[in-house]
Order: sequence, then structure tokens, then C-alpha cells
Amino acid sequence: MSLVERDQKVIWHPYTQMKDAQTPIPIVSGAGVYLFDENGKKYIDAVSSWWVNIHGHAHPYIAAQVSLQLSELEHVIFAGFTHEPAVRLAERLLPLLPGKQEKIFYTDNGSTAVEVALKMCLQYWNNTGNKQKKKVLAFRDAYHGDTFGAMSVSGRSIFTNPFNDLLFDVEFIDLPNQNNISSLIARISGLKSELACFIFEPLILGAGGMQMYEATYLDQLLACCIENDILTIADEVMTGFGRTGTYFACEQLTHRPDIFCLSKGLTGGTMPLGVTSCNQKIFEAFLSDDKLKTLYHGHSFTANPVACAASLASLDILLAEETLMNIQRVKDQHSQFFEQIKNHPKVRSIRQTGTIIALEWETGNDTSYLSGLRDQLYNYFLTSGIILRPLGNIIYILPPYVISNEDLAYIYQTIQQALEEI
Ligand SMILES: *Cc1c(COP(=O)(O)O)cnc(C)c1O
Repeated sequence: MSLVERDQKVIWHPYTQMKDAQTPIPIVSGAGVYLFDENGKKYIDAVSSWWVNIHGHAHPYIAAQVSLQLSELEHVIFAGFTHEPAVRLAERLLPLLPGKQEKIFYTDNGSTAVEVALKMCLQYWNNTGNKQKKKVLAFRDAYHGDTFGAMSVSGRSIFTNPFNDLLFDVEFIDLPNQNNISSLIARISGLKSELACFIFEPLILGAGGMQMYEATYLDQLLACCIENDILTIADEVMTGFGRTGTYFACEQLTHRPDIFCLSKGLTGGTMPLGVTSCNQKIFEAFLSDDKLKTLYHGHSFTANPVACAASLASLDILLAEETLMNIQRVKDQHSQFFEQIKNHPKVRSIRQTGTIIALEWETGNDTSYLSGLRDQLYNYFLTSGIILRPLGNIIYILPPYVISNEDLAYIYQTIQQALEEI
């Protein structure tokens, strides 16, 4: 039996309608930006394997560091015990984060990093005797993950549809712009006694369609939250570790959030690990002789040493001069493509933040995720040996930073060809 046949007997794939799904492509190895299938066909991973891979596949340095750690200590319970990789990673991450972040809480993915951030904020007000502050403020098209808390603070969509009446009530706002910023600020100020926290994806809503918005308006929202005693959570699960051109998107702001959520690029995309960091103010609200003020949260694999070792190795690479140059280079290549393609009649709009470029295909009125165009585009790129997963009619490139100019040129050229042929 082939691998695909065996897969179809036993596997249920994520985000996949299993009734009529295309057969999955068996991948046997990776190197740099390439993935190879069992027939030796090469694919350029232009979406960094769901936005996690920043330094390329099967990176020898990360592999070596992981292997060392694995033979030293693979895992240990993290309540009552500690280990060098977890402490070292926290020591290195905290000064790198914008603002004054003081403590790291480990989990194992982006959704759970968000769950912890929400619990920190909601319990903060509980612990400090402000029990009426229990509502979360979020963007209408946000995506913060797939567990129930993370789903609740994400936009309502076809993904959340079966669960909508079970999700907790959230105050949703539109992305800020010049026209609506004053009314958003007025609305937030009016709700100050109820709002516990504001969670946001800085500069770009990822799964919500790569929607980009300006730092200055986000800064104004943060200023409003600070003034009105509303805690702030930057969900940098997608934007962290160089994706937007700076190490963290929040470096492009003047105000600093209380909490950061990190995952995806944290381990260089090699292993699951999540981080929720917080400032001293949050941490101190949990210090008490009253046991009920404890943050009762943890996961079996909290602070897995092997995942921490992968993150330390990934940080070494991220902080190297060569990686900064690669990030800048990818940015510049995208900008040139932007200029080249922006007036194409089939391009409704095009936008770029750092190493991410997204273009919206002109479709008339049909913009649904389920539209045939999405699958047509997906297959067109696959046939050309490029992995791109359009979000509805939005095509985006979000590559590992090591991608060469030649491979970028090939992707741009294939997109241009698609614009002519589809
Ligand atoms: C992917 C993502 C998450 C969820 O992370 P998982 O590891 O997939 O659970 C949360 N927030 C943002 C902004 C993301 O892009």
C-alpha cells in the first residue's frame, strides 16, 4: 500500500474536508527552502510551512543542538524543577522583547500561549479586586488560535461557526484608520469599567486575510488602553522573530504591551513551543499568601528542554548579521515586485509588511474562502513546484528568510503567469 493509501485509512488532516480532499503529498525530506516528495519532486516552501519556518528546513545547526539536548535531558516536569535551556532561553528572550518584560511562562503552541495571556489578564483583575473588568477587546477579523479561549477572541467565521453560541462574549472593533480612530477611542473609553484587556496582532492580521494597518493608529489604541487601565496583549505568534522586518512588530510602536505571545518562529519552526511573557505589574498581582491568587495553569510538556534548545539555536541564527541581511533582502525584493505588479488589472490591491507580501485577486463579487478560485490557484502553484496557500482570493508570500533571489523571482514570475492564465 502506498503512503497516501495508508494515510487515508488512519489520518484526519487539519483544516481539511476529508470527504473530497485532494490526496496529500508525501514529503520525505527538506533542505533550505525546499521540500522533496517521494518521487524527488522539489517544492519551494513559500509559506514557511504555516508560517513557522524562518531559517529553512532541516537546518544542520538546529538539528545538532537538538540532538545534543535530546541525549542529555529530553524532558522533566517543570513544576518544582527547572533546567538550563528554559532559563537560558528566558534570559535571552526577555531583553530582546520591546518594553520591560520580566517573566516567561512556557506552553507548547500559539493557541495555548494566547490562553495563558487571557488568563493572566482576567485573573489579574480578579486578584486585584476589580471583578467587573472581565471583557476582552479584540479585532473583528483577528485570528488567535483554535482552542476555546483563543477562538472566542478571534473573529467569528466559518471556522468558529459550529461553536459560536459557546464562545464567550467579546467586544470587537474594526482595524483602526484615520477615519474611525476617534470613534474607536471614544467607544473603548466608555467601556473602561468592563474591559479587562485588549488582544491584538500587531501591524498585520494573519489568518484574517493578511490585513495590514498602520502602527500610528495601533499606538493610539494602546495609549487609550493605558489611560483607561486596560491591559494589552500583543499576539506576535506570527509576527515575531523578524517576520515584519524588525525582531518583533511592536518595536515599530512607541507604546509597549503588558504581555507578548510567541510561538511559530520561536523554535525556527522545528518543534512546538509557546511563550507568554509579561511585565512586573502582571506578575506581582499573582504574588500572595492567598493560594487562590495562583496562576493554576500548566501543560505536560511545559518548557520542554529539547524545544528550548531548538529555540536557543534558532536565536543564534536569527541574531547573526547574515540573517538580518537576508530579512532586508527579502523585503527589498518584495518591494520591487510590489511596484511591478501593483497596476495589473487583476490585482485588486497589494500590500507588504516586512517579509510578507499579499495581493488580492480581482474577483468581482465572489470573495468567499470556499470559492473555486482558491483551489485553482493553490493547484496552479503546486504544479509549478511552489507551496502557496491562498486565503480565499488573497495570495501571500511568507518565505523562510534564506530564500534566494532566484527562487523569489521564480515565485513572482509564476504569480504573474497565473494572473495571465487563470
Ligand atoms: C497561528 C497563530 C496562532 C495559533 O498558533 P498555533 O500554534 O497554531 O496554535 C495564534 N495567533 C496568531 C497570530 C497566529 O498566527
